[in-house]
Amino acid sequence: MKYNVVVVGGGPSGLSAAVEAKKKGLSVLLVDKGAIVDSIQRFPTSMVFFSTLEVLEVGDVPFVSTSSHPTRVEAVSYYSRVARHYGIEFRGNSRVMSVSRTQEATARFRIELKDVISSSLSFLSADSVVIATGFYDQPNMLNVPGENLPSVSHYYREPGLHFGQKVAVIGGKNSAVEAALDLYRHGVDVTLIYRKEWFGRSVKYWILPDIENRVKNGEIRALFNCNVVEILPGKIVAAVAGLTEEISCDFVYALTGYHPSVDFIRGLGVEVDAATGIPHHNPESFETNVEGLYVAGSIVAGYDCNRIFIENGREHGKLIAKDLVER
Ligand code: NAP
Repeated sequence: MKYNVVVVGGGPSGLSAAVEAKKKGLSVLLVDKGAIVDSIQRFPTSMVFFSTLEVLEVGDVPFVSTSSHPTRVEAVSYYSRVARHYGIEFRGNSRVMSVSRTQEATARFRIELKDVISSSLSFLSADSVVIATGFYDQPNMLNVPGENLPSVSHYYREPGLHFGQKVAVIGGKNSAVEAALDLYRHGVDVTLIYRKEWFGRSVKYWILPDIENRVKNGEIRALFNCNVVEILPGKIVAAVAGLTEEISCDFVYALTGYHPSVDFIRGLGVEVDAATGIPHHNPESFETNVEGLYVAGSIVAGYDCNRIFIENGREHGKLIAKDLVER
């Protein structure tokens, strides 16, 4: 199969790039190793977006909800509807194994896909490729022994799984704070472990007083200036102000943020700044140093991935589509 554009990554930014290219009359395939908006599907079950409806919209399709801030479930439904509305051809459960240059006059790239369920390989051709693989698949690792135990996760889902348990949450920003509050509100015994001396201003202003008061009241136990040294079944060994402390817990959520897969884009020939993780790209077209290969969404921000959200990542597709048709 041959397409004008193959977009790799079916999150909101990738979807936006696919929609904008389709609106320009180009043939487009959207590919993801999971489902459509796969990261959102895996966010905490009862998550409510910080962003308001209008800044999450893609392709000028109105996002309607009874609340100004949609839920995770509403967002999955909305983005699926946008893809249907524009007739976006989507191939899920398909991991891109390689993107190589061809010598053909009709297509620049040959893309090798692996079906993650059947393991079968298939090949596509495309004039242009957009990489919009986000950051959620690569958690920032603590790099301590025990981090790979089955009782440790970098992804919080829901409190009911932990009824009657002691749970430790590592991290001090929005994911960690929201998870700690959600667990506490469902009767779970929570200990929050944070490496700094108190919560910072990046915790949303409507959440900050809640967590501060729960901690001050002793309803959520919090250890500050606390660095995890090792995770063992049933406990965490940590260093607090130079002293070793053992924290009893049945399960650990290490909510330490995420980063883009820099190795993947480097493997495609894209130059990536070693310090920032930012792929070399033209800020007006998002084309990288590899002609015909574009980047979109949070991957553009490199390691500082809290700089690009759905609300600005969705704009990349418009500039990419404009560049594609101007060629
Ligand atoms: P984050 O903002 O990157 O925060 C990661 C936390 O983990 C920070 O507190 C950081 O410490 C800590 N950390 C990182 N590496 C560590 C290490 N090696 N050892 C110990 N601690 C470590 O990640 P996030 O909270 O998952 O948020 C990611 C993005 O999702 C943000 O843009 C956030 O706003 C967004 N978000 C949205 C919602 C929502 O819409 N409802 C909810 C949650 C998150 P420092 O503070 O010292 O850096």
